[in-house]
Amino acid sequence: MLYIGCHLSYSKGYEAMGRQALDIDANTFAFFTRNPRGGSAKAIAPDDAAKLRDILAEKNFGKLVAHAPYTMNPCAADPNIRRFAREAMADDLVRMEFVPGNYYNFHPGSHVKQGTEIGIQLITEQLNECLTEEQSTTVLLETMAGKGSEMGRTFEEIQAIIDGVQLKDKLGVCFDTCHVWDAGYDIVGSLESVLEEFDRIIGIERLKAVHLNDSKNPIGSHKDRHEIIGSGNIGAEALIRVINHPALKNLPFILETPNDIDGYAKEIKFLRENYSE
Ligand code: FE
Ligand code: FE
Ligand code: ZN
Repeated sequence: MLYIGCHLSYSKGYEAMGRQALDIDANTFAFFTRNPRGGSAKAIAPDDAAKLRDILAEKNFGKLVAHAPYTMNPCAADPNIRRFAREAMADDLVRMEFVPGNYYNFHPGSHVKQGTEIGIQLITEQLNECLTEEQSTTVLLETMAGKGSEMGRTFEEIQAIIDGVQLKDKLGVCFDTCHVWDAGYDIVGSLESVLEEFDRIIGIERLKAVHLNDSKNPIGSHKDRHEIIGSGNIGAEALIRVINHPALKNLPFILETPNDIDGYAKEIKFLRENYSE
């Protein structure tokens, strides 16, 4: 089953996201848990969330992949920024229980000249503070392009973070095709060996979701500029191989391409036409 969707705005509430997903033939989606560039969070109306839960169940949606705000930097040098990151994640995990059993994806952050060792330590500390035995949400570390001092640019870094976390069963990885390509992994020429490497270093069972994006830049550029499917350096053929790969084909695929809602609808249609059950 192909689970495909895109980022949707939560400005009109939860049920509205579910309806919009149905309008564009999506059966998963991503949404920001709070203002992505600020951090403030709107109160969730329980009856609105209940209506979304009904849609998800009735229409057999795949897991949703919520996204933490971009302003969250768990390994910032500034303790106030780290405090915001911890409070926001802890609060988001409470809010996620309005739609239980889904995914919450975050960027591991930027170590800002402190070095990767300190970065890994601060991220694991945050996860050890925020994850709880009771939560039904799986928290996903996103693979990153390695722009500046961004953490999570290699599978080894992701695994080093996971190694330090106590509640490992609450953790997974979100594989962003633009980011891994920009980080230097050749998913065009050898998807198979990239996934083998992922399996060897992290374990393929940790791979829970895919951000499906083309890239404006060549492999290893460390830029992180997403492109429309088929208009970038990864290309449609390679991304079609991604959605059809036996190790990936039942995961939720989230488009984060530079598009309006009609553009997303077209991409979803195109990918559905190129998926084989
Ligand atoms: Fe992201
Ligand atoms: Fe992403
Ligand atoms: Zn990105």
